[in-house]
Parts: sequence; C-alpha cells; structure tokens
Amino acid sequence: MDLASRLAETDARIADAARSAGRDPSEITRIVVTKFHPASLVQELYDLGVRDVGENRQQELSAKVPAVGPLPGLRWHFVGQAQTKKSRAIRAAASVVHSVDRARLADALDAAADGGEGEPALDVLLQVNLTDDVARGGVSPEGVAALAEHVNGCRTLRLRGVMAVAPLDEPPAAAFERLRACADDVRSVAPDARWISAGMTADFVEALAAGATHLRIGSAITGPRPVHG
Ligand SMILES: *Cc1c(COP(=O)(O)O)cnc(C)c1O
Repeated sequence: MDLASRLAETDARIADAARSAGRDPSEITRIVVTKFHPASLVQELYDLGVRDVGENRQQELSAKVPAVGPLPGLRWHFVGQAQTKKSRAIRAAASVVHSVDRARLADALDAAADGGEGEPALDVLLQVNLTDDVARGGVSPEGVAALAEHVNGCRTLRLRGVMAVAPLDEPPAAAFERLRACADDVRSVAPDARWISAGMTADFVEALAAGATHLRIGSAITGPRPVHG
C-alpha cells in the first residue's frame, strides 16, 4: 500500500470509530507523526492534504522545519519530552506543544516569546502521566489543576487541554478515562481548553471513545519507521 492509500484507509477507520463513539468525525484533528522520516515525507503528506504533523525530538523538529520550508497552513506539533533549555528552539519551530508537564517548562516557553508585535500565543497542552513511572514524563493527575492555573497565567501561552500516552501495562480505555477526568480539571480552570490529545496507531479507537479530539498517528500512515541510532 502506498502513502495515499494508508492515509485514506486510516482516515476512514478514524471516521468509523468516531461515529461509533457518537462523535462527529469533522471535529477530530488527525496529526501525522513523522519522526525518523525525512522532510520529503512531510511534503508528500502536505500534497495529500495533511496540515498537522508531529515530531517528538527537538533536534529533529528544528532540522526538519527549515528543510520542509514554509507551507501555508502547515502546523507542527511537538509531542515529545521537552528540555527546559530547549524551549526557545521548540517555540521557534512548533505551533503547538503537547508536552508541558511542569511550571518551569511553561515559564521557559513563555519567556521564549520573541515579543514581536502580533506574535501569536503558543498553543500548549498539559501532558499527564497515566503511569506510576515518573521517568515517562507528564504531570501526575493530582497535579493537573495547579499546573493549569500556572499555565493559564503565562501571558504568551494559550492553554488548550491535555495530552497523554497510554500505559503499556493496562488496557488503554481505563487509562483514557482517567485522562478525561484530568481534562475536566483543566476546563474548570480554563473553560475553553477542550483539547484531548490521545490515541496513536494502536489505541485511537479507545481514545475516541474517551473523548479524544486530537489523534497522534504515526506508523499506520507513514509505514514502519526507519531504524534510527
Ligand atoms: C511516535 C509517537 C506517536 C505515534 O505512534 P504510532 O504508534 O506510530 O502511531 C504518538 N505520540 C507520541 C508522543 C509519539 O512519540
């Protein structure tokens, strides 16, 4: 199957799953995660109508954005763990950051605004850790409300909602229900922050059932990722 067929087939599966969950497929944003693939793949996806792409490593993002060059309407989503000291590079390259999980990172992204007239706010999501393993990144569910308050006070950030990766050792549906509760906590602080970024190739059906608005799909669309070092 070629890229166009995989994209079309995945979108059809997403639309079916959305309708089964009583959701309107047109309200779902499908982000294509292009990590480890060359910039040329982003151009091919763009030519097929894709407008949202995701990367999980800052260095790769920072290299790929200029390699792809300006494409009207293309949005780059940063979905990986973010080092505070890389905030300026991330902000320069991404229009959405899904992985804000601590106040210090929010402050650094806020301070990285270039201050230019009319510079758009940076859309950010709070990454929630749905496991007990702190190494996986993300704020604990108990910490979500306080972090939402903090981010909501950052002048150049726009709090949009929550993001999570399902744990490996638990059915995703149960974990995504906990994420939905975290999304409610965020909305009690910022009523317009309605995004829920959840669901990858293996679990987007469960994510849609639990209210996901943004899916991060890699291999189902791109095919297997090239081996990397
Ligand atoms: C790689 C990645 C994805 C996509 O994974 P697939 O299983 O290939 O769909 C989604 N989210 C994050 C954070 C990723 O790193």
